[in-house]
Amino acid sequence: MSDTFEIAKILVTEQNLEAMLPRFLSCLIDELEPADAGSVWLHDPLDDHLTVRGAQGYDLAPLKQIRLAPGEAMAGKAFQSGQAELYSTAEATAEAMADLTAEHQELFRQATTGLKQALSGVCVPLATAQKRLGALSLLNLRQPGSFTPADLTFLEHVAGLITVAIETAELREELAAVQALSDANRLKAELVSTLAHEMRTPLTSIKGYSTALLMEDVTFSPETQREFLQIIDEECDILQDLIHDLLESSIIEAGLLRLELQPVRMQLLAESVTSDMARRAPQHRFFVDFPQGFPIVDADPDRVTQILRNLLDNAVKYSPSGGLVVVRGETRQEEVVVSVADQGVGIAPEHLNRLFEKFFRAKGMLGRHVVGSGLGLPIARTIVEGHGGRIWAESRLGQGSTFYFALPRQGLSQAPRKEEAE
Ligand code: ADP
Repeated sequence: MSDTFEIAKILVTEQNLEAMLPRFLSCLIDELEPADAGSVWLHDPLDDHLTVRGAQGYDLAPLKQIRLAPGEAMAGKAFQSGQAELYSTAEATAEAMADLTAEHQELFRQATTGLKQALSGVCVPLATAQKRLGALSLLNLRQPGSFTPADLTFLEHVAGLITVAIETAELREELAAVQALSDANRLKAELVSTLAHEMRTPLTSIKGYSTALLMEDVTFSPETQREFLQIIDEECDILQDLIHDLLESSIIEAGLLRLELQPVRMQLLAESVTSDMARRAPQHRFFVDFPQGFPIVDADPDRVTQILRNLLDNAVKYSPSGGLVVVRGETRQEEVVVSVADQGVGIAPEHLNRLFEKFFRAKGMLGRHVVGSGLGLPIARTIVEGHGGRIWAESRLGQGSTFYFALPRQGLSQAPRKEEAE
């Protein structure tokens, strides 16, 4: 039986159950002459029902809605009794399926729409010495001819193989889930320590300057006092930003990001965010460059402000004083693109895609530590993607970076408003 090798190969090489079962069943159907539909049912001990995990020759959507009780229909019976069964006539097959609930009969009918009543069937339990896993059933729906006892014996052998493969795949899935959990826990632990460290830097500074101001035996000039207060004020802003990022990230993670779209004049918004940033970063130079008649886009203005503020914040943080930051708007056929370019430290090519991963921070190239959460860009990406857009970066190490985000143009207001076009 040449297909037996093929079956063994699928079971050994295909690691994912959802991909393995349909391939395995289709091979089995090729191998066993009367078979034209096959399904693998697995038992969920939590609710004591069998559901289909793989099928061939059926319409899968209705079949997937069936939740067989142990003892119900061919698969339920094989699972419950642990016995392989040959239903060699249409009557025997119909009798085995007669106890399907009315709802399941209807779903089964939909799953086999356009096909005849089953002419014969075979069903074998899938079980190890310790555990009952489910059942494998094959039906003969279209062509004359019946399964034979030899088919049943063959299927019992194959059932042993598929049982091992299912167990292995399930163990692999459990292992991956445990791994993911431990990765998540590790990441959380890393996050706490990174953020604690990041928060300590501004806090140390706040504590230092306020303690100095409170010292009774030292008198500072009004200018120095003002300078210290200024530093305290700035460091408080940094702390606030860190906490804000953290809260935003958990809101987004909980799936609570809500976008309220409305027509947005991107150029006005960019000008306002940039002039705000220019006030806060007087050592940098800023330039906003949008073409005339820039289209109005449907977007959430608060969220777009947040993205731009974050990109401008980074442009300032990661470039030296005196650097020029350019905010540019471009229109393309399907989208509008806004970019923020700086003349800063740049980003190594291998880091370019990682910037949008949570907590990723490239090691400081400025020769000083820059406080940050590593959450700003991932948050920006979620917001942009929530708009149906995309975000990316281009950079040359030591020469500067440009961050782009594109938002789709379709929606309310594709055409430039009259007063803008003028
Ligand atoms: P944060 O700036 O708080 O660390 P972000 O998610 O905003 O977090 O940025 C992630 C990392 O991407 C930064 O730590 C930095 O290494 C890099 N990065 C972001 N913007 C720039 C930029 N304009 N120039 C150079 N590196 C940047």
